[in-house]
Amino acid sequence: MTDLQQWLPKGVAAISAWQDTYGAFEQHPSLVVSDDALGAALDRLTERLRDNYPFGNPRYVGQMLKPPHPAAVLGYATAMLINPNNHALDGGPATAQMEKEVVAQMATMFGFKQHLGHLTSSGTIANLEALWIARESHPGKQIAYSADAHYTHSRMCQVIGVAGVAIPTDAMGRMDLQVLDQELASGTIGTVVATLGTTGLGALDALPQIVGLARSHGARVHVDTAYGGFFSLIADDTADGVASAPYAAISDVDSVVVDPHKHGLQPYGCGTVLFSDPSVGRFYVHDSPYTYFSSDDLHLGEISLECSRAGAAAAALWLTLEVLPLTQAGLGQVLRANRRGALEWHRLLESSGAMTAYQMPELDIITYFPTRGRMSEIDAASNALFHAAADCDPTEQIHLATYTVKGADLVKRGHEVELDGATARIMRSTVMKPESEAHIPAIHARLAALSTQ
Ligand SMILES: *Cc1c(COP(=O)(O)O)cnc(C)c1O
Repeated sequence: MTDLQQWLPKGVAAISAWQDTYGAFEQHPSLVVSDDALGAALDRLTERLRDNYPFGNPRYVGQMLKPPHPAAVLGYATAMLINPNNHALDGGPATAQMEKEVVAQMATMFGFKQHLGHLTSSGTIANLEALWIARESHPGKQIAYSADAHYTHSRMCQVIGVAGVAIPTDAMGRMDLQVLDQELASGTIGTVVATLGTTGLGALDALPQIVGLARSHGARVHVDTAYGGFFSLIADDTADGVASAPYAAISDVDSVVVDPHKHGLQPYGCGTVLFSDPSVGRFYVHDSPYTYFSSDDLHLGEISLECSRAGAAAAALWLTLEVLPLTQAGLGQVLRANRRGALEWHRLLESSGAMTAYQMPELDIITYFPTRGRMSEIDAASNALFHAAADCDPTEQIHLATYTVKGADLVKRGHEVELDGATARIMRSTVMKPESEAHIPAIHARLAALSTQ
């Protein structure tokens, strides 16, 4: 374990030493609190924080949640002692430079030859920014995304006043290319949003084909790979890698969004938007009397929708990538373990009578359900399994999540069940902690046993 009890004091000491070079001063009495008061309040906080699920435990295989890497915590906490603001170079020269470096590393990961981009407070804001630039560059045109795209795309289309078009998905949860082609042929679509790693199923839209179709109709392509983006490090078609073709095509698109706070080991508050044509910077022009740009260098605030942003988020990502770089041997090893865990679980499901795999996983998200003859029974058994798996001693608990599907989704995937309801909950597990891999056989065995009770 990287021990934060050992490392955090080193960060605090180094920042104190730097601050002292400006001369020591007394904290204002209004800010002084007693050790007793702070200690008691901290006790209340840590007690309240026990009301949580153990997101970092290998048996937490539910939603996309996990604590950041200790290096990210160390980088964040150390920089936060200064609290730089990456809006302007004057607000945080060091962390603004770190932000440019990590953004360049991600652009290289995606094969961009040139780029303009920055960190954001989330994937939602990063996508909003990409869709806003899409509207500015293709005014009056619609934005198409798959029916399984993140729900915020339709919401953000409302925000920017653009009509959004949802394209149905196929049996793999990928955008239906025939329908997309028809919509593009109508001439009303200005931008196509492809998702690499849908939030629900981890499905990869067929990006090379989408780029081809969009280009032939003069449309722009945005890739939302908020969840799946870092899998491009292992997109090599190997046994514990993921498909190469969709990832290779990212280098041909106009913009891409990836969330370091999902698979980049970061705390929340870290998304990224990248544009392959730096000249989109012209759409951001603004003038404000209170932000001060004291040099001709690129100020991140000049190319960002948001104003204040944590410089600490850039420091956290920068420090993390110093020790776990965007390579096969760095972050790639984390993703491969997740991928192996998901594939192993899927294999066990495929040979299980008690459980049925919903579809083949393309990343590290798997979907499955207790084997039953009717939708209503699948729904009830999934809900029961969700509760039963966590209803035991904490050292044994398995934490799961459910996912709602329609009858047509089951039929499309060849599941022969009686459609006695409109929707059913099934199970959805995100295997995003490398430690989970070793626990998969035991997790599967327990869930299979519980689901037949
Ligand atoms: C998580 C996610 C988003 C939203 O990102 P936030 O960081 O949660 O705002 C958008 N798109 C996809 C594909 C996602 O997985």
